[in-house]
Amino acid sequence: MELQSSQRIPLSRSKCISCNVENTHVVVSASYAHIFWVPLFPYKKKLTIVCANCGMDTKPKEVSLEVKQMADQLKSSVRIPFYMFSGTGIIALLIGIFAVIGFMDDKKIEGYLDEPQVNDIYYLYDDEETSEYKFYLGKVIDVRADSVDIQPNTFHYNYKSTRLEPEDGFYGFYYTVHKSRFSELFDENVIRHVMRGFDSGAGFEREIEYTEEGLPDPEGK
Ligand SMILES: [Zn+2]
Repeated sequence: MELQSSQRIPLSRSKCISCNVENTHVVVSASYAHIFWVPLFPYKKKLTIVCANCGMDTKPKEVSLEVKQMADQLKSSVRIPFYMFSGTGIIALLIGIFAVIGFMDDKKIEGYLDEPQVNDIYYLYDDEETSEYKFYLGKVIDVRADSVDIQPNTFHYNYKSTRLEPEDGFYGFYYTVHKSRFSELFDENVIRHVMRGFDSGAGFEREIEYTEEGLPDPEGK
């Protein structure tokens, strides 16, 4: 299915090849791509020459070269009505809305980073990880005036997991991070998200005992 709009322009000094009356019109019709009948952009312009007297419909290639040239000129001057681009406008609006939502989300995360709470989950992004599993997690377990203790989890994920794999959990040890470092890590895109509040069944309370076997082997042995 496609949307169409057409415009008629009277053609002067052009006789109909059927009835020989000078009452022909150039009709330019345009087809539009659309989403749910909201036109997005025109993708096809079609030209016909129609006689208003007898209704004879002529393709431009069947008329004289002079008329064809005139018609082509008119075709290129036919303006697409502005409302026909409304779909593009709606998409631009949606992009704007998503940008605002993203901005509000950023503000919310910055608020969480300014005032950390126990059990906040930080989604950290390891840009140097060569596989797609770039996300790892940090759980806030203690908050002091200037610093925060964070436990790392054991798995890497290729998405911002809100539910841990059954074998995954947080190690019993922690890193102490100065609070001022958080906004830097957020600006550096290392902290990608902060989740405050999680389901009891999501596995975030699970503690995994740290063992030597749990360490990645840098030698690949
Ligand atoms: Zn005619």
